[in-house]
Amino acid sequence: MVVPLPKISSRMTFQDLDLSNPLRNAINDLGFETPTPIQEEAFPVVRSGKDIVGIAQTGTGKTFAYVLPILRDLKFSKQETPRVLILVPTRELVIQVVDEIEKLSKYITLRVLGVYGGVNLNRHKQAVVEGCDIIVATPGRLYDLAVSRVLKLKAIQKLVIDEVDVMLDLGFRFQLLNIFDLLPERRQNIMFSATMTEDVEALIDDFFIAPKKIAIAVSGTPLDNIEQTSYDVPNFYTKVNLLNHLLFDKSEYGKVLVFAPNKRNADRIFNIVDEEFPNQACVIHSNKTQNYRIRSIENFNKGKHRILIATDVIARGLDLKEITHVINFNTPHYPENYMHRIGRTGRADHLGKSILLATEKEKEAKKRIEELMNYEIPKLEIPEVVEISNELTEEERPKEDRDQSRNRTSQDFVPGPAFHEKKDKNKKVNLGGSYRREIAKKYKKPKTKGDKNFNRKHKKKK
Ligand code: AMP
Repeated sequence: MVVPLPKISSRMTFQDLDLSNPLRNAINDLGFETPTPIQEEAFPVVRSGKDIVGIAQTGTGKTFAYVLPILRDLKFSKQETPRVLILVPTRELVIQVVDEIEKLSKYITLRVLGVYGGVNLNRHKQAVVEGCDIIVATPGRLYDLAVSRVLKLKAIQKLVIDEVDVMLDLGFRFQLLNIFDLLPERRQNIMFSATMTEDVEALIDDFFIAPKKIAIAVSGTPLDNIEQTSYDVPNFYTKVNLLNHLLFDKSEYGKVLVFAPNKRNADRIFNIVDEEFPNQACVIHSNKTQNYRIRSIENFNKGKHRILIATDVIARGLDLKEITHVINFNTPHYPENYMHRIGRTGRADHLGKSILLATEKEKEAKKRIEELMNYEIPKLEIPEVVEISNELTEEERPKEDRDQSRNRTSQDFVPGPAFHEKKDKNKKVNLGGSYRREIAKKYKKPKTKGDKNFNRKHKKKK
C-alpha cells in the first residue's frame, strides 16, 4: 500500500540540519527538499547518543530518520567488524534499507552489508569476512552468523530495531534477547515502531533505560465523516454478547472490521462469532499462514465475508475497502492507535461508524483518547436483550485467583467473581431476544457465550 508522505514541516529545511557536505549532496541528488517531521525530530536525539523510540509508520521517511544522523557521525574506518547493527523483520526490508543507505552514502566511503535467511549461509559468511561498517539483518540470520563466530559484534555502538511491533508480532522476541546478550552493554538503542503495542512496551521496560519517545503528532481531530459511539461493558464475554447482538443486523453491519487487542483474543472472538454467524467472518494475525491471510483479505474485500477480526499490527498494512464499521473490541492504550483504527472507515465520501467497547479498567485509556480529540464519545446503553455475563477470562480474573486455578483440577474449578456489581436491570432473568430464542430452538442449545454455569446446569436437567 502506498502511504502518502505526511505534510512536510514548514519550519526546517535540510540546510538547517547540521549535515556534512557529502550527505547534503546525496540528498540534493535525491531531490528531497525538506526533512519530514520524524526526520526533523529524530536527528538531534539520535546524534545525542540517548536511547530513542520513534513511533512512525512506513511512508513517513522513518528510514532516513535514523540513517541520516547515524551516517552524519560515522567516521571512516578500515576495521572489519561492524559498528552499526540494523535489525528488521523481513528480507524485503533488509534490501530496502540497504538501498536507502547506499543512496545516502553516495559520496561517502562506507561499507554496508545486508543479510537474511533463505540465502546460503556460507555466502553471507564470506561477505562478513570482507568487513563492513553497517550490517542490516533479519534476526535469525544475524544470530546464526554470530554464533558461528564469523561475525563479531563486540564493536557495535548503535543498535537499530526497525518495525519493532512487526518483529515482536512475528515472534522474534526470543531471538532479539539472544542477540542483546551478544552485544556490548554500552551502546545506543534506537527503535522504530508504527504502533505502540503491549509487547513493544514490555520490551522497552525490560531492556532500555528511559528512552526518549518521539512521535509525529497524530491529528486528534475526529473526522467529520466518522460517527463515533461507545459502550461501557463489564467484561470480555459481555463484549462478545454485545458484538454478536450488533452483528445480527446484517443490513446495518455490512462490512465490519473488529480490532482485537492481541492474537489470542482475536482467535477467541473469531471462534465465537464464527459459531454465531457461520461463513460470514474471518480472522487475520501474524500466526496465520500467508495463504490464509491472503484468502481472508480477499474474502473480506470481495464481500464474501462481512466481518474481519484483526490485530492492530497486521491491520496497519492492509488495503481494506469500504468498511462500514470499525468495532474497537478493546480500548487502545495509546490514543494514536485509536485514531489509526477509526481512520479505516469513513473514507472518501462514505460515512463510517466507529464503536468503542470499554471496561472499567479501560476507562483511563478512553479518557486519553477523548482528551486527544477534545471530544467526548457519545455513550450508548447496552440493550436489554444483551446478556451480561459473569464469566471472566483468565486475564480478567484477579491474580490470586489465576494462580489458584492453575493448581485446581478442572472439576473443582469455579469462575471468579465478576468485577462489577450488576446493574439492577441486569439482575433479572434474561430471556434473550427473539432471534436468540429462534436460534436456540434451531440448534437446541444456548447460543450465547454468557453464563457457562447456567448453561451447564441447564444441560444436566435435560
Ligand atoms: P520510509 O518511511 O522510510 O519507508 O520512506 C518512504 C519514502 O519516502 C522513501 O521512498 C524515501 O526515499 C522517501 N523520503 C524519505 N525522506 C524524504 C524526504 N525528506 N523528502 C521526500 N521523500 C523522502
